[in-house]
Amino acid sequence: MERRVPPPSLAERAVSTGGSVIREALALTARPEVISFAGGLPAPELFDTDNIRAAYDRVLSESPHRVLQYSVTEGDPGLREAIAARLSRQGLPSHPDDLMITTGAQQGLALLATTLLNPGDVVVVEEPTYLAALQCFGLAGARVVPVPTDDQGIVVDALATIVARERPRLLYIVPTFQNPTGHTLPAERRHAVARLAAEHGFWIAEDDPYGELRFRGEPVPWITAHEEASDRTVLLGSLSKVLAPGMRLGWLRAPVALRRACVLAKQSLDLHSSTVDQAAAARYLTEHDLDARLVPVKAAYKERCDTLLTTLPHVLPEGSTWSRPDGGMFVWARLPDGFDTAALLLDAVTNGVAYVPGAPFFAGPANPATLRLSFTTHHPPEIDRGLKRLAGVFHAGHRASGARGAEAGPAAFSSAGT
Ligand code: PMP
Repeated sequence: MERRVPPPSLAERAVSTGGSVIREALALTARPEVISFAGGLPAPELFDTDNIRAAYDRVLSESPHRVLQYSVTEGDPGLREAIAARLSRQGLPSHPDDLMITTGAQQGLALLATTLLNPGDVVVVEEPTYLAALQCFGLAGARVVPVPTDDQGIVVDALATIVARERPRLLYIVPTFQNPTGHTLPAERRHAVARLAAEHGFWIAEDDPYGELRFRGEPVPWITAHEEASDRTVLLGSLSKVLAPGMRLGWLRAPVALRRACVLAKQSLDLHSSTVDQAAAARYLTEHDLDARLVPVKAAYKERCDTLLTTLPHVLPEGSTWSRPDGGMFVWARLPDGFDTAALLLDAVTNGVAYVPGAPFFAGPANPATLRLSFTTHHPPEIDRGLKRLAGVFHAGHRASGARGAEAGPAAFSSAGT
């Protein structure tokens, strides 16, 4: 053969922006000496390891042929039943057939992008929002339009103006303990969002992986519980933050026609989520009281969050603001103008502490002075030690010169614990 013709390049949607200072810095956060507030990980010492192992043991010894076999795309009937019963108890009447099991809530997002979005369609999102959702909509070729938020979440007047102008097909929203801000949308705003969806005719993806991690205050009804939007809202849930993310189990609750389309789309992705993991989760949920299990988890997260919130005023430069979440995993902070948290990340890591710069969570122009801190994985004394190191970084007079302006699109991150 004289000449080899190179293969075609990657599809446009798969071409990432290449190397990244942030990615390199975050890779260093895995070093044991770094106290990392960067990950979005549940505390591993609080996993219910013994009971999860027992659930796997039982299903593997009692029905190995079933749980090691292929199974239906919709998901394990027992698991759907257990989740439907949980939702119903929490005030959202649900039938197992309303649900399909997904490989994490993340797959639910991918299924919605596949079934609802044509290239060029508009998706409106909170600004800032979950960065892997931005990646997902970007890969689908959607045009993502940000909607301003305040310390209670999406601003309804701004949403009304934007949906009238942009005619979106989908609103993606994380109303409870949002990632990255930790904010929770009040009941009346949820109702207003439901009414806007009815009035303007758009879908809502209501993503709620953190709602069960409430350690203060009262639960707020889901958007999908409002009659106006019940035929156009998809509720995405997950066992990642309440059981174990490694099991990769989530679910979506959607109107029938959309759910059927998602089932077909899932067949092309992975046929079904792992049979044995679903069976073990179903067994776990029927044999254990998850609410009772979550009591010590929420108590630990509350203590860790409060430690962070108590110390932050001594850590962040004067003029900074930050969120005060009632649950979930994240605090969002905004330093005074002029700081560039992406540029400071390498210094932070060199000093043995890490966070996620805020920029990648923005769909529109990023505020470089923002950052996300996760409070879940360290005990209070370690949180205090990490924050002392962070204070050193912020108070060392490092004002961003712009010279090291770290590129910070969603592609700047690898996926674990986003
Ligand atoms: N949505 C949000 C808002 C998240 O923060 C995450 C996880 N970081 C997911 C979805 C995906 O969760 P899962 O592990 O269920 O795929």
